[in-house]
Amino acid sequence: MDDKKQLKIREMTNEERGIWESIERHAWIPWVSMKEVAEKKEQPVIKRGEGVFLEDIHGKRYLDASSGPVAVNYGYGTSKIVDAVKEQLDNLHFLHYRIAFTDKVADLVKKIADLTPGTLNRIHLNVTGTDAVEGALKIARSYFPNPSKNKVVSLYGGYHGLSYGTLSVSGFAFFKEPFARNTPPGTLQIHPPYCYRCAYGLEHPGCGMMCARMLDETVKAEGPGSVAAFIAEPIMGVAGVITPPDEYWPLVRNICDRHNILLIADEVMTGWGRTGRLFTCQYWDVEPDMLTMAKGLSGVYQGISAVAIKDKIFERFADEKFFHSHTQSSSPISAAAAIAAIEMIEERDLVKRAATMGGYLRKKLEKLMAESPLVGEIRGKGLFQAAELVADRASKKRLSEAVPNFSDVLHAKFQERGVIIRLGGYNSDTLYFSPPLIVEESEIDTMVDVTREVLGEIHSAL
Ligand code: PMP
Repeated sequence: MDDKKQLKIREMTNEERGIWESIERHAWIPWVSMKEVAEKKEQPVIKRGEGVFLEDIHGKRYLDASSGPVAVNYGYGTSKIVDAVKEQLDNLHFLHYRIAFTDKVADLVKKIADLTPGTLNRIHLNVTGTDAVEGALKIARSYFPNPSKNKVVSLYGGYHGLSYGTLSVSGFAFFKEPFARNTPPGTLQIHPPYCYRCAYGLEHPGCGMMCARMLDETVKAEGPGSVAAFIAEPIMGVAGVITPPDEYWPLVRNICDRHNILLIADEVMTGWGRTGRLFTCQYWDVEPDMLTMAKGLSGVYQGISAVAIKDKIFERFADEKFFHSHTQSSSPISAAAAIAAIEMIEERDLVKRAATMGGYLRKKLEKLMAESPLVGEIRGKGLFQAAELVADRASKKRLSEAVPNFSDVLHAKFQERGVIIRLGGYNSDTLYFSPPLIVEESEIDTMVDVTREVLGEIHSAL
């Protein structure tokens, strides 16, 4: 064990050591290897959160530059939502809406229906983003009278969850490979609108929007009679905040209409104001047939998600039973949290705030890009921004290919300076800037200043 790790263990309080022992012995944390977690001992033990800050067991404060997994949209310890949850807990903690109704669930479905675009008026509540997407896929695959019209097209790099159903439309091979034998068949993937590294080697705007046209070609090749839906994130999150050209979504809507296939917008990450519109598809005036949402719906004060479904689609199921449900799908506590979060968006004008603060952040990031050769591209909308990091701008060589243990190094350098970051993208080369929507300019300044310092240090060591 190297000296740094020894030091870390020696510096731990008894409480911290106990937490680490329990985690190492009993927890199975996704996305990481438990062996590495134990060896590296990187994660701080957090005691509390307030606003955009987390505080560890030693009293050190960290600015959360990514809202956790782009989910803590309203910050930590937000009294409006905390109070709403407490009040509902005191009043009635649980009721399943097959048995009886609560005012909270009734208020929430109406609120969501009123706020989602167009005729997305039927709301199916769920607990996680994954089971919202799972529900949308079940609806799409059983909607058409012709049972063979059931294939789903999605994007390479798309992320929709890791359950068997959602895994089938998620577009990273390494997520699927261990379960390949069991994932449902009938899904097809096409390349995403990732202009910075276009799979077709083309350059926007002279590309004729090949990436969107490929949806058309794929559906034609498969036969429109066999394709039920296209699912995508309006701005792709896990893939690294891949932001399509403005023509993309209107084109995709048009192609879906022409072939009579359903368009599912997965707004689990982008919904509820994150990008400077309440829903990101509103940037392009596109109304999907189904819209999935989760994280920002309650700012993860509770596990709650939903699918908003167009009236026309729902009518087909109106006299049928739909078997997609979880014990806690209609939790009044979750509904209370979501209602309080939505009220907070309205009262504090958080959508507009995401747009203005996002503009401020974007300017700072562009300045950073002008100064640092390690920034290959800045992309995103509102408070959903990212910097793709490269070792060399001309060749677009990924920074992760030039810096050994890139992700660990970056996390550690930021953590040392009191900032918690999130990396995304194909090789984890993309640094997210997606703080809670309540972020202040001075906190944005800190995020960008620390990034400048870290990138400067990495650059001089290259
Ligand atoms: N869809 C998208 C676009 C997501 O970003 C995520 C989570 N990152 C999911 C679905 C899955 O949501 P959850 O983790 O709540 O199941």
